[in-house]
Amino acid sequence: MIPGTVGAGVAQNIGAYGQEVVNTLVSIEALNRNTLKNQVFSPKECGFRYRNTFFKNEWREEYVIVAATFRLKRYEKGEESDRKYHKYIEGMKTYEGLKEELKTFAKEPYSIKNIMDAVIKQREKKLPSLKEYGTCGCIFENPIITKEKYDELEKKIPGLPSYPFEENMVKIPAGKLLDELGWKGKWEGNVGVFDRHALCIVTNREATGEEILNFIKEMQEDVLQKYDVQLGLEINIIKK
Ligand SMILES: Cc1cc2nc3c(=O)[nH]c(=O)nc-3n(C[C@H](O)[C@H](O)[C@H](O)COP(=O)(O)OP(=O)(O)OC[C@H]3O[C@@H](n4cnc5c(N)ncnc54)[C@H](O)[C@@H]3O)c2cc1C
Repeated sequence: MIPGTVGAGVAQNIGAYGQEVVNTLVSIEALNRNTLKNQVFSPKECGFRYRNTFFKNEWREEYVIVAATFRLKRYEKGEESDRKYHKYIEGMKTYEGLKEELKTFAKEPYSIKNIMDAVIKQREKKLPSLKEYGTCGCIFENPIITKEKYDELEKKIPGLPSYPFEENMVKIPAGKLLDELGWKGKWEGNVGVFDRHALCIVTNREATGEEILNFIKEMQEDVLQKYDVQLGLEINIIKK
């Protein structure tokens, strides 16, 4: 449900609902463009972080991912695995949309299959169909801010969701900030924001790169001015 190739998925450390590719990754094989030899890396060596890796930035000109090995977890009946399983399910349930979706077709205790179906249903409802629109996907990273900053923001946006990150830091949804500022469904010429997801920039397929970039800058400036939060880009911009 996240469009893209395996190589890009790894390079970008794609993720959703608190899960990231790195959680299931065992090794990565990449072609070194200088030596033309393949090298195998462990995830620890590749600078995995939120929506980023060395492959996406530091090593961008050096390596091309050609293979990746994943290991999925099997949750057998048993005390320790059950505990982990329930922790995982509880974690997923902190996402309001998912929680509401689950209630419509499943009963607790939810299975992994229930969660998967709920994620698919949610994404089909919220994200633009690639058949209908040109889209650059989710443009902005969810900002990671201090708890103090969060308390300040929550006064302006009551009920602003937050997800624990590192000590004294939380992740907040960029989409919610943009939504509050009225960006959802707003269009300027050939570029717009999807009317069901404020993070998704869509086009009528006529937009130039410059139009899209200007639109992105306007969104960033608006959030900075109103909330003093700098929206970082999830995408790499390649200038000509
Ligand atoms: C509707 C929609 C919803 C989305 N939802 C999510 C989401 O929920 N979560 C999320 O994380 N992303 C999401 N995305 C973003 C997108 O799906 C991912 O970024 C995906 O990785 C893009 O894949 P791509 O093949 O188009 O890669 P590209 O956009 O072509 O590349 C992405 C990055 O990876 C690098 N790269 C690509 N292939 C390789 C390779 N083989 N070796 C080394 N580097 C490589 C590129 O240089 C670039 O920096 C969404 C996008 C859309 C359109």
